[in-house]
Amino acid sequence: MTSPVVVVGAGPVGLCLSLALAQADVPVTLIEAMADGNFLDQVPRAGSNHPTTLEFFDRIGLYANLEPRGIVAPRFAYWDRQDNARIAEFDHALLKDDTRFPYVLQCERIKIIEEALQMAKAHPLIEVRMATEFLGFEQTADAVLARVKTAGGETETIRGSYLVSCEGARSIARKDLGLEFEGFTYPERTINIEVAYDFRAHGYTERNYISDPVEYSNLFHWKGPPDRWRIHFPTAIDDDENELKRPEALQGRLRRFLGIEHEFEICGCNLYTVHQRVAAKFRVGRVVLAGDAAHVNSPIGGMGLNSGVHDAFNLADKLTRILHGEADEAELDRYERQRRHVAVQHTQAQTIRNKRLLAERDPAVRHKNHDELRRQAEDPVLARKFLLRTALFDSLREAERIA
Ligand SMILES: Cc1cc2nc3c(=O)[nH]c(=O)nc-3n(C[C@H](O)[C@H](O)[C@H](O)COP(=O)(O)OP(=O)(O)OC[C@H]3O[C@@H](n4cnc5c(N)ncnc54)[C@H](O)[C@@H]3O)c2cc1C
Repeated sequence: MTSPVVVVGAGPVGLCLSLALAQADVPVTLIEAMADGNFLDQVPRAGSNHPTTLEFFDRIGLYANLEPRGIVAPRFAYWDRQDNARIAEFDHALLKDDTRFPYVLQCERIKIIEEALQMAKAHPLIEVRMATEFLGFEQTADAVLARVKTAGGETETIRGSYLVSCEGARSIARKDLGLEFEGFTYPERTINIEVAYDFRAHGYTERNYISDPVEYSNLFHWKGPPDRWRIHFPTAIDDDENELKRPEALQGRLRRFLGIEHEFEICGCNLYTVHQRVAAKFRVGRVVLAGDAAHVNSPIGGMGLNSGVHDAFNLADKLTRILHGEADEAELDRYERQRRHVAVQHTQAQTIRNKRLLAERDPAVRHKNHDELRRQAEDPVLARKFLLRTALFDSLREAERIA
């Protein structure tokens, strides 16, 4: 039997890759640093799953488990906080002839990995190694040797045909390969506040992008219990974290945002730094990068997890054909050409534009941008074009054309 593909990291990307490979009869060893006991204690992150990603989830049988745990959100809106008015609303129903899933599924990363991990554990071709930390690797002409530390503290070497780093932004494999993580880090941090309060009473829909020259934000609805919304606000890089997270400070932000006096039920908050970076290469010999290990971006537009999952399926098809003797290793260079192109030309470009749009300070430019959004939302042909881009159909179709 072929040596397994060693997948490092049971995040959404590593789990999707493992399931797609195993379902195509390729054995996998999946290494995850976290233990079963703390796997679900992770800070809230991604959660807006675009139609293209839902199609991939469906391909491995994951979608059916996620839909009951999420919110079907066909529409999303842009708001102008200065006027407290909706600028434009886009409806994925316009994509009904393009996809079986003409909506975004609001389903948090933690639910995705919980469901996908259960499926991975149940698959006979996936060996899941929880509480196992990847330390580094060596590669030869025909194998990769992954060094890991087991739950018992021993060092062990796992042999694989290929190694895919799905370790997230701090990928050890990327660093050990000496690959530049090219790009920049925004000189500000973002605070997320999770709150059990129904923002629909103020006209908001399940996903909202709110432009403001002083304090732009994003607002998303998540299925409970408890049913809750997550709102993101920018903060200055030197703002004191304890002060930002003080309950009264969080209440004050929410009151100012809605312009009401209310005692909110706050479920949590976290602070994070936003990077826009892409690895100089996605493949060196038998070691391949996917997801956040290969590229990171601002969450505005919900593209990080989505494009990482797209990497996973692109790579799964290629590794499967290589390991079944139907293609040679040059396929992995095509993976890099396709997915690096998407990371730079689509994900980076789009998320940088998204942030600029929301944070724009020049009144004339804001006015022009908002008029343009209105124009696109009001014309069904332009609105469909807009949605094909934001829902990542364009990036997949363009990648497919790259030889
Ligand atoms: C606030 C916020 C909101 C976001 N919202 C969205 C959104 O709406 N839509 C979207 O598409 N994206 C969003 N993102 C981005 C998204 O969370 C990431 O792109 C996505 O989680 C990346 O998945 P991944 O599997 O590549 O890595 P990760 O999710 O980071 O998973 C990596 C896994 O590898 C494991 N690991 C790490 N190091 C080791 C090691 N040495 N040994 C073994 N295991 C290891 C980790 O424990 C983890 O389980 C958001 C991000 C943030 C911060």
